[in-house]
Amino acid sequence: MKSNNYSEIEPFEISSIRPPTENSSLTFRLTRNCYWNRCGFCPVYKTGSRFSKRTIEEVEKDISRAKIIDKLLIDKGISGSASSSYSEHSLYSLIADVKRERFKSGRIPSLYEKSNDLEDSPGLDERMRWFLTWFKDNPTTEDSFTHVFSWRAGGGNTCFFGDADSLILKPDFIARASSFAKETFPTINRITIYGRTKSAAKLRTPAELKIFAASGINRVHFGLESGSDRVLELVTKGETSDDHIKGALKIKDSGISCSVYVMPGLGGKDLSEENGIETARVINAVEPDFVRLRTLEIFPGTGLYAMIKNGTFTLADEEDVVREIRTIVSETSCRTEIVSDSATNLLNINGTLPFDRERMLQVIDSYLSLSRREKLEFSVKSRIESFMGQYGGLTEDIYAFLSPYIKGGMLDISDAGDKKLIEITTVIRGKLMP
Ligand code: SF4
Repeated sequence: MKSNNYSEIEPFEISSIRPPTENSSLTFRLTRNCYWNRCGFCPVYKTGSRFSKRTIEEVEKDISRAKIIDKLLIDKGISGSASSSYSEHSLYSLIADVKRERFKSGRIPSLYEKSNDLEDSPGLDERMRWFLTWFKDNPTTEDSFTHVFSWRAGGGNTCFFGDADSLILKPDFIARASSFAKETFPTINRITIYGRTKSAAKLRTPAELKIFAASGINRVHFGLESGSDRVLELVTKGETSDDHIKGALKIKDSGISCSVYVMPGLGGKDLSEENGIETARVINAVEPDFVRLRTLEIFPGTGLYAMIKNGTFTLADEEDVVREIRTIVSETSCRTEIVSDSATNLLNINGTLPFDRERMLQVIDSYLSLSRREKLEFSVKSRIESFMGQYGGLTEDIYAFLSPYIKGGMLDISDAGDKKLIEITTVIRGKLMP
């Protein structure tokens, strides 16, 4: 590409909704959004996004577009790899040059590109508006450049094919997308997908799943959420614990690694105990490589939000949720790795079962042994820590909210009443990205 000739550059569609382990992955959308879209806890596609399949030609075009951007970044010495002389200024000044050129040639109507047309929808709840800033439905020039850049900075080896359930795709489609991605980016050595257990159990044959594995799909991330059929039905998951067990075992039998998400708190107050016990039962049956904890958070516009409003769902409190996690840790007898990689979790419970069980239970029991007041203070501090980890500090609105309790640059909540502590925790939780 000639210097300052950016005519070939176009953004490509990225999967902004992906597992945290794929944050630095190069992502491509094989489908858009979620065809099921009924899970009562899930805010992801609840603001009007429609499911669609993409053609293999569209996917290959996106992979080629990513390659052009990658090559330009390398040519300019700002690829993000360890050997490049990156500076934030040089990256963003290149992005500005490319945008100007695209604007001048009429390919974008304004220098201000929006990742999501829904962000400005009138009447949209503030939290959902904020959530949409994370959800890049129409990636911009900047989104595409920073995506490729952070992939190289993260090692340049991993790839994620989205969106919500790539197991609905035919094996030859997956095989073609995988080979094209790996030929175009030879350093890719891991490709992962999200999948629904029902698709693995009922849609794909063992022979088809072997083709997935042979084509380079290394891991499927399943959102099990719960092992309790009553909880799954309550939240309209559209899958049973039997689907979870059969689907996940089929994936493992085909030689693909299996990572599952479970959601403490999903049964609310009423099914809290059952949620822990039944989830441990399914984990034992599946023996997944990873169990990732993601505590229930309620978003406006979801089914559970409506159920709370009409009094048919009562949230489990923080202690109930911790007890559920305790059940999962103490009742899981298989070997698996428990990972707390979501800002929604109160405690950092990480380790390999059964070896680290005692250490993990100690963390849980030390929280459970606190007095009520100590638990409330613990929640505030833990949630602020998560917030700062996610945002790199306190945002202006949160700082203003906490300012009565910031003394000499330090947070001092000793004078705050119990109600205030609960309010602080609720406000901070409401801003955390799951
Ligand atoms: S299947 Fe996944 S993406 Fe779709 S609604 Fe349920 S949780 Fe959300």
